[in-house]
Amino acid sequence: MSSHRTDATLNYPLGDHLPPTGQATRVAEGVYWLRMGLPFALDHINLWLLRDRQPDPQHPGREREGWTVVDCGIDNPATRSAWQQVEASTLQGLPVLRVIVTHMHPDHMGLAHWLCERWQAPLWMGLAEYQAAKIACTSQSGLGSASALRFFAQHGWNREEDLATVQRHMNHYAEMVPAVPASHVRLMHGLTLRIGERTWQCLSGLGHSPEHMALYCEADRLFISGDMLLPSISSNISVYHQEPESDPLAWFLQSLAQMQAALPDDCLVLPSHGRPFQGVHTRVDQLQAHHAERLAELLAACTGQARSAHDVLPVLFKRPLNQQQMTFAMGEAVAHLHALWHAGQVERRLDAADGVYRFRAPRH
Ligand SMILES: [Zn+2]
Repeated sequence: MSSHRTDATLNYPLGDHLPPTGQATRVAEGVYWLRMGLPFALDHINLWLLRDRQPDPQHPGREREGWTVVDCGIDNPATRSAWQQVEASTLQGLPVLRVIVTHMHPDHMGLAHWLCERWQAPLWMGLAEYQAAKIACTSQSGLGSASALRFFAQHGWNREEDLATVQRHMNHYAEMVPAVPASHVRLMHGLTLRIGERTWQCLSGLGHSPEHMALYCEADRLFISGDMLLPSISSNISVYHQEPESDPLAWFLQSLAQMQAALPDDCLVLPSHGRPFQGVHTRVDQLQAHHAERLAELLAACTGQARSAHDVLPVLFKRPLNQQQMTFAMGEAVAHLHALWHAGQVERRLDAADGVYRFRAPRH
């Protein structure tokens, strides 16, 4: 995620409040906010607890009281311990009845296996996300795999010592997501879920992950946005080696436009990072403007000279990048170049001399 701070015009109804570790903050009747730590530059994730009741499989016709969890945190001792504190502080002795995961990224998916096992609760998520998580946790297909290194090299990041470091450090999906539940209940765009007293609608979004699922409760104007709409950072939009020709930035901007059309401006957005906010329309406008600016800068950088994704990193990222940030930055740079390429604004050529893709806009 790139950090650009343009959140001055959004409304934060809870002010600067952040829930302490292991404690929940009530954001609406039966809706609670949890915040778990992450060992990255992005140092936290928000999770949501929704008061629920579900049919009791042992007693047809009766219902069990409990909770639905939305997103899980990564699997490490600190997050497990925070969850145990939440059980004591917040769950009121009631069970977790189901675990919903917005998408397969480790901070959302990591402890799903543990929570589902601990509570004998089913996992609910989109099929493409579920399958992607299964593959990522059992194979060496991550950002340090041979195929990923080839992809980086094709986009101009080909210094051997850099790639050797990436190879050593970037296969850690399985460290944060050691297992994925054996089955899931499939979420689909447009599906409605009854959670406690409320009805929520699934809104799928593209560009950040394969089939991200956000949840919207129209009656109470609550929107659990996952990573699709964040108040103070822009979601990571990357091309990955598994789908090297893709145009995720165009898909993401289209998904944002759909959200803007579907949601009222005053709904309370519950994002995965940052604070709950109001101002969907403003935020979507800001993000559209942010990406339009980046694309204009890139187009200028590629006008009259052919540039690789690696060449244009300083155009997109004005700060020095560490190794982990480099891998994400490369994915983002390719995503922005591909948006120009798929829109016909630049042409792409594979240079026979060094095997690197370069993008160039004709001079007008
Ligand atoms: Zn994510």
